[in-house]
Amino acid sequence: MTVEGLMKVASPFYNKFRELRANIQHRPPRVNVNRRSDAPDHVLIIIVDALRPDQVPDIDGFSTSEVITPGTWTYPAVTSIHSGEYPHEHGAVVHTNSEDETFATPEQAQPEHTIPEIAEAAGYDTYGGFAFVQPFLATETWYQTHRVFQDSKASTVLEDYRKWRTGRELTFGYVHLSDLHIPVNPPDEYIEKFNVNTDIYDLDGFGGYMDNYDPDDSEAVHFRKHRLRLSSAAFDYVTDCIQSLCDEIMSDTLITVTGDHGEALYEHPEVDRKFTDSRPNYGVGHGGTPFDKVARVPVAVSDDRICPIGGVGSHVDLAPTLANEIIGDNPFTKCEWQDEIPNDRIAICEASRYGAERKAAYMEMNKIICSKKDDVTLTGVVEHDGENFKPIPEEKREALVESLPDFWDISDSPVAENRLIEDQLKALGYK
Ligand SMILES: [Zn+2]
Repeated sequence: MTVEGLMKVASPFYNKFRELRANIQHRPPRVNVNRRSDAPDHVLIIIVDALRPDQVPDIDGFSTSEVITPGTWTYPAVTSIHSGEYPHEHGAVVHTNSEDETFATPEQAQPEHTIPEIAEAAGYDTYGGFAFVQPFLATETWYQTHRVFQDSKASTVLEDYRKWRTGRELTFGYVHLSDLHIPVNPPDEYIEKFNVNTDIYDLDGFGGYMDNYDPDDSEAVHFRKHRLRLSSAAFDYVTDCIQSLCDEIMSDTLITVTGDHGEALYEHPEVDRKFTDSRPNYGVGHGGTPFDKVARVPVAVSDDRICPIGGVGSHVDLAPTLANEIIGDNPFTKCEWQDEIPNDRIAICEASRYGAERKAAYMEMNKIICSKKDDVTLTGVVEHDGENFKPIPEEKREALVESLPDFWDISDSPVAENRLIEDQLKALGYK
């Protein structure tokens, strides 16, 4: 049997092994904090992986806004949500060299604080539920209870959370859903509702249009049309699942629903060719160039006091915002959404997976995408349907370029190459 075949067969056992090991290796909080007397009994973060900016969760009683994700790829983005630090600060990033065949996995970050640690120190029981393994790898051991699924549907993962919290007085939960991540497979009734033609080749993936999408090719355009419908069907399904949980728990739970990053679906495939090695996808998917459909994500909150308003919000603000709600104090350094975000706030999004580094910076409606290595700086204005690449005022451009951290050298990143495969084999007694 090949390694890939073995991994497929072994995955459920492997996940169980990692889950148990993470629970055992969990360490008690290193901080002493007091819970606010008026803090919510339950706090829940729901991440919908690959949530596009136009997919705003419409949940009864929730307020909505939008923020910039710190990273275009799950691993660093999830680390940022937990730690309140940008990828260049927490370091859970990795670049794969152009000539490499396999993708490396970063070493887990060791941030000074994480939001589940603060919650646990304040007396909350903590739970992380993950529909697939990648976000679990970024956060394993940070929760008292971890649950890892194998590309499971939202209903399964949310039900596991619901069961876990039943009977508990104070809980902090993190649930990461994969329904919008490829392979996209919503239940049949949603596929029918959105009139999706599922006979199209690889519709639940990228249809083979990884580096060859041509907007003048009618077949490619047809694929994109139905791929967008499929994504809408999956979004409708996941919204229904979240709505049904929220109906039950909203009265005593502070809930945040957002994406870890968005998903490009051929908005700018030609622009992506300006950068070295946008594989495996040019202008599609996530992890690569921080186009607006990847970098900007909706956020929906059950309490409008913490709905981001004012300048540009970022996911690095979520941990500080929740820390304020839980302990009335903030050991993190970024913005709290209880306060209006300053208009001149610059939020950064770092692409941190493939060959050439690429970063975006946003201020008000102005944006740049910059790769120092490739010597490319694109400027644009964010409009309703994404960025419109055009000149912006020179002082804005300078401020945005100035805000970007130095790019990291590939050799600087601690790489745990093939960590997943080696670990899976070990779990099976092969190594
Ligand atoms: Zn993701």
